Amino acid sequence: MKTKIMPHVLSCSVRECAYNDQEKCCAGAITVNGPEPLCGTYFKSRHKGGMESPGAVGACKNERCIYNESLECASHGIQVTFRSGRPACKTFSEKSEQEVWDV
Ligand code: SF4
Repeated sequence: MKTKIMPHVLSCSVRECAYNDQEKCCAGAITVNGPEPLCGTYFKSRHKGGMESPGAVGACKNERCIYNESLECASHGIQVTFRSGRPACKTFSEKSEQEVWDV
């Protein structure tokens, strides 16, 4: 098992999320889901939560992304925004058909 530094959430435009403070993610570690790269930590509440920004990517279940290594994000940081009305990883980049089969 590898040890690595978690990439930061560089920006998040989902202001309504309980972990969002002026377009900065304050969650200690978010989870990105698959097969769509949706933010699994997104949560609406009357209260704001989290820690000091920037938040980090704790885990990513989207194996179709070129940055995904061992179900973790190996990018230098991600951006989160709305995609079809849902909070999603904007940094997601789909692997080619061949790369998917090679995993
Ligand atoms: S860039 Fe790719 S691997 Fe990293 S969190 Fe987004 S979807 Fe997951």
